[in-house]
Amino acid sequence: MPEGDSVYRQCKMLREALKGHVLDSSDLRVPALATTDLSGRTVVDVVPRGKHILIRLSAAPNASELKSGAEPLTLHSHLMMDGTWRVFERAVAAQDGAERESGARAASSAGTAPAVRGRRGRQPYRRSASVRSRAEARTPLSADVSIGQGSHTIRAILRTATVDAIGFDVKDVRLVPTRLEDQELVGFLGPDILGPDWNLDEALRRLRAQPDRAIGTALMDQRNLAGIGNVYRVEVLFMTRTNPWAPVGSLPEGKLTEIVTLAHKLLNLNRDRPLRSTVGHPATGRPLFWAYGHYDQPCRRCGARLKRGEIDDAAPSTTEARGASAVQHLRQIAWCPTCQSGGA
Ligand SMILES: [Zn+2]
Repeated sequence: MPEGDSVYRQCKMLREALKGHVLDSSDLRVPALATTDLSGRTVVDVVPRGKHILIRLSAAPNASELKSGAEPLTLHSHLMMDGTWRVFERAVAAQDGAERESGARAASSAGTAPAVRGRRGRQPYRRSASVRSRAEARTPLSADVSIGQGSHTIRAILRTATVDAIGFDVKDVRLVPTRLEDQELVGFLGPDILGPDWNLDEALRRLRAQPDRAIGTALMDQRNLAGIGNVYRVEVLFMTRTNPWAPVGSLPEGKLTEIVTLAHKLLNLNRDRPLRSTVGHPATGRPLFWAYGHYDQPCRRCGARLKRGEIDDAAPSTTEARGASAVQHLRQIAWCPTCQSGGA
């Protein structure tokens, strides 16, 4: 699952490509929005809220009176496990298409088989080829965002005069009046670790409110604080020598503050980096993480073998009744049985 820093970079890419531009057309490929037409609206802003992507749009043009649906709207999406937004430059496609046509015409008029050639005589332009926008080139997708998906995974297309912004496999595509963003989309989130209104005390208060909950699970609950995914959970708990299953209330004085402060620092350090790392600026080929993904490898602190564990992110506080319908959401984590042994 993408972390808050991936979502931050995706929003930055989309903002650079779309903000201030009018939509020529839209194509939302989810049943509830299949007939929605956003053309004529201007993209006002693109903002991350935790792991949620909010694309804010102006009111519909020529709406003489603000009737339902004509008011400013927010297009919501979530990357979940493998969603990604990408930006493709339309100018490149249009130019190639024009040249290809003129090349074909020239070839036809010469009485030969049409030799379809691309720009400057190179390989023919292929729509499936990745046309990376300048914005995207400046902010490469992070390693955990999968690429190369096919068109059947497209869930949203926003087209301006110059770019196609395409959401592949993005989830929870919804359109709500911007004034109802909090109420319907993101109001339940805890303090946003990458947000301008980050509030450490409030995040700590929410975490402490469920003292029996495992710290590893509590950190991932976006209602406590928004933005942490599995990578940062594993790394922060390793770096602070915290047992992932230790109840929040059992942590020594100051430990919870240390954990959350470190998470905030790491996410902010990485938010503008093309390659996420928790070990500083790694040399090429060096590991990017202390523990994440390093199952069965020696702990870089004590030499013990890192273990693979499963943690239930759907687990309620042990003081709550665990209903029969409680869904299990097991995630794999790496941890050191020696350095992170205490407290569980
Ligand atoms: Zn260790």
